[in-house]
Formats: sequence, C-alpha cells, structure tokens
Amino acid sequence: MKIFCIGRNYADHAKELNNPVPTTEPVVFMKPPTALLLNNRRFFYPDFTQNLHYEGEIVLRVCKNGRSVQPEFATRYYDAVAFGIDFTARDLQDQLKQKGQPWEIAKGFDRSAPVSAFIPMEELKNSSNIHFQLKKNGELVQDGHTSDVIFNFDALICYLSKYFTLHKGDYIFTGTPAGVGPVQRGDVLEGFIEDRPMLRCAIA
Ligand code: MG
Repeated sequence: MKIFCIGRNYADHAKELNNPVPTTEPVVFMKPPTALLLNNRRFFYPDFTQNLHYEGEIVLRVCKNGRSVQPEFATRYYDAVAFGIDFTARDLQDQLKQKGQPWEIAKGFDRSAPVSAFIPMEELKNSSNIHFQLKKNGELVQDGHTSDVIFNFDALICYLSKYFTLHKGDYIFTGTPAGVGPVQRGDVLEGFIEDRPMLRCAIA
C-alpha cells in the first residue's frame, strides 16, 4: 500500500509556517507502510527530535485501482474517511528544507501516521465539507473544514493518479488546518470527525 500526504492544502496552515500557498499543484510526499500506527496504540516519542509536531488530517481511502483518473470519475476512487495524524519532526524538517533536501526522515519515520477506523462517505452529512477537530489534553487545538482546502478530494485523486497508479487500499492524508504544535511525553491527542470520537493517541 501507499500513503500519500498533501502538504500546505489549507492556506491558514501554510501561512502559520511561513510557507508559500500552492496555487496550481499540490505539495505531495509519501510515508511508507511502516509509518502506520493503528488501533489507538501509544506513540513513543522518538529520540531523534526535540520538536515533534502533530498535524490532524482527514485521510481518504482509495477503493479502486486507477491511472490518470479524469475529474468526472474521481469520486468513484474513494469510499471512506478516517482521522489521521501526520507526525512531523519539525526540527529535522526545517533543517532539510533549508538544505533543499527531501522530508522523508522528518515525516515518514516509524509510526508517524496514526490512523483511525474509517467512516464510509455515505454516512457523512456532507462529504465535500467534513468538520474535523483535534484536541490536545482535552483542549481544542485544530478545527478544520474540508471545504477550506485548496485542492479537494477529486482534484487530489486526479493529480496523484497522473504520476502514481492508485491501488485499492492506498491512503491519502489530505492536509492539516492551522493550529499545529508540539507534543510532549504524557500528552494525549484525540481526533474527531463531525463530533464523533475517532482517534486517541497517547504520547509515551
Ligand atoms: Mg501534514
């Protein structure tokens, strides 16, 4: 399976990190399958970073193989959403960005991608405007609506499938809204979709 991730898909988040807002093409990177952390398992703070950030995101599940998907067929290629955290070693990422190098070690390390159970698209009130929230130690830190994205789900399916064959079971992290921040050992992150508790992640 592949885990695609989209960077800077919410303008308010791109601005909080002083990054340019993409306009014509999304920012794409990947995490390997070893990044997955399932079933609300604990996350162990890695020793290679001093500035680990959470990024709460809606994760799309690909349900059909496809290449060069055309816009009118894009909705057929995903069938469910989950809550995911794109854990990021921000200090490593900043160093890599300065050197113009790829982000993989800062973003794709083991267990850097907690993902909840999935909700079928048809159970959502409005699949083009999904409300999602992240709480840290019970306090709301991120509050997003997928209607605020720069590149919507259909656009991401079309763009990614130009370069990579999509496989049933691939995941797409669709980007994070403003409010990212650091975690410490002992913190608890909780993700919600439409007020449904979806994900719990304790940092050990
Ligand atoms: Mg992210």
